[in-house]
Amino acid sequence: MTARISSLDLDELPGQERTAAETSRPAADTETTRPRRVLLAKPRGYCAGVDRAVVTVERALETYGAPVYVRKEIVHNRHVVQTLSERGAIFVDETDEVPEGALVVFSAHGVSPEVHRQAAERNLRTIDATCPLVTKVHQEAKRFARDDYDILLIGHEGHEEVEGTAGEAPEHIQLVDGPEDVDKVSVRDPSKVIWLSQTTLSVDETMERVEQLRNRFPLLQDPPSDDICYATQNRQVAVKAMAPECDLVLVVGSRNSSNSKRLVEVALQAGARAAHLIDYASEVDPDWLTDVGTIGITSGASVPDVLVMDLLSWLAERGWGEVEEITTANEKIAFALPKELRRRREDRTGTVR
Ligand code: SF4
Repeated sequence: MTARISSLDLDELPGQERTAAETSRPAADTETTRPRRVLLAKPRGYCAGVDRAVVTVERALETYGAPVYVRKEIVHNRHVVQTLSERGAIFVDETDEVPEGALVVFSAHGVSPEVHRQAAERNLRTIDATCPLVTKVHQEAKRFARDDYDILLIGHEGHEEVEGTAGEAPEHIQLVDGPEDVDKVSVRDPSKVIWLSQTTLSVDETMERVEQLRNRFPLLQDPPSDDICYATQNRQVAVKAMAPECDLVLVVGSRNSSNSKRLVEVALQAGARAAHLIDYASEVDPDWLTDVGTIGITSGASVPDVLVMDLLSWLAERGWGEVEEITTANEKIAFALPKELRRRREDRTGTVR
């Protein structure tokens, strides 16, 4: 489904206030004779898990006052982290950096039981903002470890989500990152082996990896339901739909955002001539626009839409004012806040949010 958005509409979208200097800025020297248009992917940007995690920190600041400590980046986005820092959140790498007895929020990516143990040891008050879809993968890992399976976890080494999931059953889980890892894993009983995955992977690459694993272990079992979450899948489907028509795809997202990086790869695999990951419109290199007609835009699941609107404005000033939204799904998923904040609000108002 496509919908045309006029330049006027763009001016009315939130986050569009521009300074006089910006509005009078001359267009960049990006002359091209090709018709200029923007395809805007939908869905894009914030998923339900990210929205919940960001609101969790905001509510914790409102309810308990600053500072609120957050272990790791609450979500992998520079703008979000900077904005919350300005409001009083303090981001730390580990719980031993949090003063005894203080409040700490665990990020959307999830933590291992060991992190909970360390927090309890320091008498920290905790709010767990782990996305419920990451928690679901933790539950699967615990269940199959209890049933004594060997678990092959497809994911990126060093990613916080993978560390959290693997920490649920380290003696049962082996990580499969690249294709070279497939030959390295060893299982005790080839009839009791299952694969699970990180939630933010490329669907196509993961299926390739599963195929490779199944060649080695024909009785490899699939997870009870998809581990790659709805938001990751939907954003990849949307970018695939527009990429073949695009001379350039710009993905708004941070360099440490797994799902954002995957969108760049998926765009290129689906036929975009070029694709780049940027945090802000100001990072667009004018050279990228040379001889470009159609530009596709999308954003990772941790990106607030105001950053996309900024990019649309930046491009409109340079001649790419025609915007067509390419819709491949309408998302209506929302998650309740963590129980610690619900309980607190119930104490105050007698109702649960
Ligand atoms: S990308 Fe998926 S798993 Fe990660 S926070 Fe969003 S909904 Fe949850």
